[in-house]
Amino acid sequence: MAQTPKNIAIIGSGLVGSLLAIYLRRIGHTVTVFDRRPDIRTIKFSGRSINLAMSNRGWRSLNEVGIGDRIKDIAIPLDKRAMHVNDKPMYFQKYGKDGEAIWSISRGVLNKRMIDLAEEEGAEFRFNEKVWDVNLPEAKIYTGETEKSEWREYQYDLIFGCDGAFSRVRHKMQRRSRFNYSQNFIDVGYKELTIPANEDGTHKLDKNSFHIWPRGEFMLIAMPNIDGSFTCTLFLPFEGEVSFESLTTEDDAREFFKKYFPNVRKVIEDLTKDFFDNPTSAMVTMKCYPWTYWNKVALVGDSAHAIVPFYGQGMNAGFEDIYVLNQLMEKHGDDWDTIFSEYQEERKPNADAIAELSYRNFMEMSSKTADPKFLLQKKIEKHFAALHPEKWVPVYSRVTFSDRPYSEALAIGDRQEEIMQQVMQLPNIEEKWDSREVEEMILGLLDN
Ligand code: FAD
Repeated sequence: MAQTPKNIAIIGSGLVGSLLAIYLRRIGHTVTVFDRRPDIRTIKFSGRSINLAMSNRGWRSLNEVGIGDRIKDIAIPLDKRAMHVNDKPMYFQKYGKDGEAIWSISRGVLNKRMIDLAEEEGAEFRFNEKVWDVNLPEAKIYTGETEKSEWREYQYDLIFGCDGAFSRVRHKMQRRSRFNYSQNFIDVGYKELTIPANEDGTHKLDKNSFHIWPRGEFMLIAMPNIDGSFTCTLFLPFEGEVSFESLTTEDDAREFFKKYFPNVRKVIEDLTKDFFDNPTSAMVTMKCYPWTYWNKVALVGDSAHAIVPFYGQGMNAGFEDIYVLNQLMEKHGDDWDTIFSEYQEERKPNADAIAELSYRNFMEMSSKTADPKFLLQKKIEKHFAALHPEKWVPVYSRVTFSDRPYSEALAIGDRQEEIMQQVMQLPNIEEKWDSREVEEMILGLLDN
């Protein structure tokens, strides 16, 4: 169903705001994007580049508006994990079936490209313009230098809040009655470190792998960039015996890497400089509801659902919000009340599901990777999935390589976990983990 062109404001020119601008321009709406920051395309990067993993849901949303190929050329496919476990040679774990991969992209490079593409479509960007207040019923926004300075007022037909986890638009909605909101910081923080490229521009580690150094309470990961470098992320508790708090001097940091990540120490050029120059950041799960205000205002992306990054799905989920919104716009035309109410009803359970899965992955990575029972369980699941791929699709694949709802992945994952809990009770399971008896037990439980 066609839509009557509207005058629309998007708050936030991040990944979600710029993709939404492209979708809305395609329909013929007038789009102005506000961002409190300067134009990212004009800023010289310090060499620090956070990178993200794009998976099926993200690609589907980009392909829907025909821009997937313009993004693929700035991304590197990763078809496996490279596990760097202590006292073992490095080994690989394939992600999924042949041809299945997640894609590593620098967030900065991606954001610049998305803004370029949105401008090509005719969206107007107003950088260095922070939104301080929103009049929800009248769809007005107020921008200015500071909270106390004189503000400019703009009126639109519709406003989309794509202003991230600490959204100003949501903040305004929070003051309304019956608006639910929660935020939960985890006690682990992260810091970015860089492995520079070799002199000839090649990568120092296998470039088609997602590198992981699991160390129980903490963990290091690395993803490749197209310039030959890797961006590493160190996840470490804020407080405790081995923590950001305990690593205060250059010697502490050097010793820490020598002890826990000896191979990495050799490839990070200036480890201690990186360590002390780069900030330590926190991670939060943020939930809220409703996500919309009548037919005037809607939250999309992190402003509606910020999650911890342990499933690599935050951006993918935000892009999927837009895909769903677009389907509803096609279905309901100018009926924005219905578009917004169906949007939040459909997306909220899925956002909650991926928040839960991401949090569980964090718990799993930090506390279970060294537990032999847990490792045995994973081995049995993998063995059974290889025998019966049509009967047992792991949750990771359901989240990453599928576009079925996140809530379905969570529900099936819970059912699989129940089955595995029963299997793990079998006497001598350690010896017969790959036996016909175990296989038949799982088949029987699946049929129940
Ligand atoms: P943001 O990227 O936060 O953008 C919000 C924009 O709004 C910003 O440009 C900001 O300047 C602007 N803004 C804010 N307030 C105002 C205001 N008042 N006025 C005007 N402008 C404003 N996701 C994945 O899919 N895969 C991954 O591998 C992955 N890895 C991650 C790793 C880490 C360590 C972290 C922290 C996150 C990761 N994510 C990942 C999540 C992903 O980064 C976010 O989900 C995504 O960036 C959200 O995009 P957004 O556009 O909604 O918000």
